[in-house]
Amino acid sequence: MKSLSDQILSTVREVPDFPKKGINFKDITPILENPKLCREIVDEFISRFSKTKIDAIVGIESRGFLFGMTLAMRLNIPFITVRKKGKLPYKTVSYRYELEYGSAEMEMHVDTVKPGWKVLIHDDLLATGGTAAAAAELVKMQKGKIAGFAFLVELSFLDGIKKINGYSDKIVALVRY
Ligand code: AMP
Repeated sequence: MKSLSDQILSTVREVPDFPKKGINFKDITPILENPKLCREIVDEFISRFSKTKIDAIVGIESRGFLFGMTLAMRLNIPFITVRKKGKLPYKTVSYRYELEYGSAEMEMHVDTVKPGWKVLIHDDLLATGGTAAAAAELVKMQKGKIAGFAFLVELSFLDGIKKINGYSDKIVALVRY
């Protein structure tokens, strides 16, 4: 029997030079075609955070919505979306951060995180950590606390962990490259 991380590693599809030259894109969509593997992934996240108090899950657009929503339903807690600027229809809080070239801005609907809530931030992949850190800032702007971070994949050579471990030391990645 292959371990869960070996199953994930052999299922994630690596696409060189997407969306631009030099980026080795980790495509998680083949995982979604395997419902048994998806269930095992959700079970693993639930077990890794079983001792952590979580009031809500924040999922980052767009691949963070897939397992994020499933986790929230399993834990019977609210799911909150973080999206790129201009996508959310209602009033938002917004956080701008620097990228290698230029900047990006992420938004969350106001009043979705209640003061004092402990929020788990989820995305498919941790690269430089800027996006996950922006999600953490949005939670803090609404007076929430960071319960932890959950990723399927961590690109450890990019050291993204350094950008987020100040928010919480509970950082789970099911596979690392
Ligand atoms: P970062 O802010 O650098 O940690 O980037 C994280 C976001 O970009 C996540 O939403 C990922 O889905 C996406 N991303 C960054 N690099 C990759 C990659 N090599 N393969 C797949 N997705 C990536």
